[in-house]
Amino acid sequence: MSGSIYEIIDSRFRDLIVGSAQLDKLYTGCRWAEGPVWFKDGDYLLWSDIPNRRMMRYLPDGTVSVFRADSNFSNGNTRDRQGRLVTCEHGGRRVTRTEIDGTITVLADSFEGKRLNSPNDVVVHSNGSIWFTDPTYGILSDYEGFRAEPEQPTHNVYRLDPETGALTAVVTDFIQPNGLAFSADEKRLYIADSGERDGEEPRHLRVFDVVDGATLTNGREFCRLEGGRPDGLRVDERGNVWTSGGPLVHCYAPDGTLLGRIHVPEGVANLTFGGPRSNRLFITATTSVYAIYLTVRGAQTP
Ligand code: MG
Repeated sequence: MSGSIYEIIDSRFRDLIVGSAQLDKLYTGCRWAEGPVWFKDGDYLLWSDIPNRRMMRYLPDGTVSVFRADSNFSNGNTRDRQGRLVTCEHGGRRVTRTEIDGTITVLADSFEGKRLNSPNDVVVHSNGSIWFTDPTYGILSDYEGFRAEPEQPTHNVYRLDPETGALTAVVTDFIQPNGLAFSADEKRLYIADSGERDGEEPRHLRVFDVVDGATLTNGREFCRLEGGRPDGLRVDERGNVWTSGGPLVHCYAPDGTLLGRIHVPEGVANLTFGGPRSNRLFITATTSVYAIYLTVRGAQTP
């Protein structure tokens, strides 16, 4: 398939893609597009344009407008089980929830009495707990947040208890934890490490077993990317893992086998399933947002 946007590495990838489907460019004009989240009930996509300190909204008629003008350098977004928007903010170094009436509730901004680094990406478990990563990207410079020295000694993955509000560090040994996603049955949590330290650049996703929706065990390397560092990821209904990495979307089988890639004209930061049938992959890629139809649907359908 010379010139194709599809790179088929394992024949199983053919069952996941629509061969005639092309990459649609929905919008351009961002500085660093991130944090896509689909609102099925409203039939629209939201995402963050981090350096421009705004959140954008795309409607299927092609209309794109500013959803939130001062987003506080928002990054990752998701929805909780009540449909409320949950957002990571570099600027406020916090995770927030946007209530139905539009007011913003701070869910977490410190751990053990010290400020968080800069929450990056977030997912919500069906038991209501909120899991997010806290690398330092949003405090390294004034481009994607406010430059500051980190107060946390490590770059953790946290779990926020929905009942007590208690924040627990569930993983503490990442270089820079970034995107994360549960498997459809919530028995697994995938977490990307996009960091580099002392010449070490793992470029991998790790997977953990989730115990009682509360703790993680049996962490191991799930896959190692060729061509870019992983950032955001999602899981489809069959358990395949779709992750960003360079100007590519990489698709891995549940056993970690690389099935194929989709070539994108710009560096990919994140992606999410959306559309009325959840069979359209929305891709935030540097200055633009792209979308492509697949045969599979996303695992999460809030
Ligand atoms: Mg990210």
